[in-house]
Amino acid sequence: MYDFIIIGGGILGLSTAMQLNRVYPGRRMLLLDKEEGPARHQSGHNSGVIHAGVYYTPGSLKARFCLAGNRATKAFCDEHAIAYDTCGKLLVATNALELERMQALWERTEANGLERHWLSADELHEREPNIVGEGAILVPSSGIVDYAEVARAMAAEFERQGGELQFATEVTGIEERPHEVVLKTRQGDFVSRYLVSCSGLMADRLVRMLGKNPGFTICPFRGEYYQLPATRNRIVKHLIYPIPDPSMPFLGVHLTRMIDGSVTVGPNAVLALKREGYRKSDVSLLDMARMFSNPGILKALGKNLRPGLVEMKNSLFRKGYLEEVRKYCPSLTLDDLGPYPSGVRAQAVSREGKLIDDFLFVNTRRTVNVCNAPSPAATSALPIGAHIVDKVRAQVEA
Ligand SMILES: Cc1cc2nc3c(=O)[nH]c(=O)nc-3n(C[C@H](O)[C@H](O)[C@H](O)COP(=O)(O)OP(=O)(O)OC[C@H]3O[C@@H](n4cnc5c(N)ncnc54)[C@H](O)[C@@H]3O)c2cc1C
Repeated sequence: MYDFIIIGGGILGLSTAMQLNRVYPGRRMLLLDKEEGPARHQSGHNSGVIHAGVYYTPGSLKARFCLAGNRATKAFCDEHAIAYDTCGKLLVATNALELERMQALWERTEANGLERHWLSADELHEREPNIVGEGAILVPSSGIVDYAEVARAMAAEFERQGGELQFATEVTGIEERPHEVVLKTRQGDFVSRYLVSCSGLMADRLVRMLGKNPGFTICPFRGEYYQLPATRNRIVKHLIYPIPDPSMPFLGVHLTRMIDGSVTVGPNAVLALKREGYRKSDVSLLDMARMFSNPGILKALGKNLRPGLVEMKNSLFRKGYLEEVRKYCPSLTLDDLGPYPSGVRAQAVSREGKLIDDFLFVNTRRTVNVCNAPSPAATSALPIGAHIVDKVRAQVEA
């Protein structure tokens, strides 16, 4: 019998496991993942940005955890000799409407307590000669890191503290009893006093295994990237982001410096026809049948039909994708867009067809389940882990 089992070897499961072990040293803890090693899904397929907390509703969990997570991630990297670069981010307005939206973002960054600077078109050009715009907001605290490396360091620390890691073990059923939780796997049953599930793209399925109707469904959105040729690695000094449409803040491809020195363009957001569908050709008839018979997802797709179709078109035709980036980086050409692996976002959609904005947790007497943790959850992994530990502690002490 374990004291705590954590499902999910992504950055959230590992952050939680590591911090739970600090609070309850000497207790038996196990982290399970269905893959062969840590960070094989979202935590290993993302932009690698240590976000500052620009867009999020003031007071939301995203705003609070991102701000704290920005500092905590850098401190964790310092402690574990993991490379990161606080290169700063520029949010670039390319026309009058975006300048107006930039003003609203400026106010939001103030409400979220961020250091930021307003740059004129000339100041922008001086800092970034390859970028054009009417103006920009500079956020100095944004940075870059390899989150898979952060996750591996968390896994090593959890093991060093005496925690057990078991990969290639998929949880296929869960039974919550009055004094324990039983997990079914093909490798046998595992029994624990408490359970934390950080299962990303499968979050709703794990809640269903508990016999609960989760009230939301995970909608998988693939984020496709391109990589610039090495000759373009110095094209920008900062992360370059467009000013988003406030109703679709996660849309808009950015130029991202990666910690290995390369530069990527992306990601877009296209509906994936398989939960873990990293390639356009990945299709699961079962996942599709479940998705297209789900009223919440159908409503969400209906509401976002136009932007959804544009994203699909730009996914199929590189030229459309390129035009999005050329708005602020006009020197890029089709030849600059080389292949790069995609990621798939786990976005929770409510029954009413709303893309759930904030981080979401569902608890039962002996379980805590992370149900919506899209970007900036990698940045926020340490504060989210601490938040989950508080929830578990409340259950243990109840
Ligand atoms: C394209 C893209 C770009 C992003 N960019 C950024 C960024 O720049 N900055 C940022 O802060 N965030 C970013 N994010 C978000 C961030 O990557 C995720 O929010 C974060 O990685 C979520 O971590 P997780 O541990 O919840 O999920 P995951 O990393 O997906 O881990 C979930 C784990 O659960 C396991 N699992 C699922 N079901 C089971 C089961 N039944 N049994 C056993 N194991 C199971 C899976 O195998 C997986 O390892 C991005 C995400 C994407 C997709």
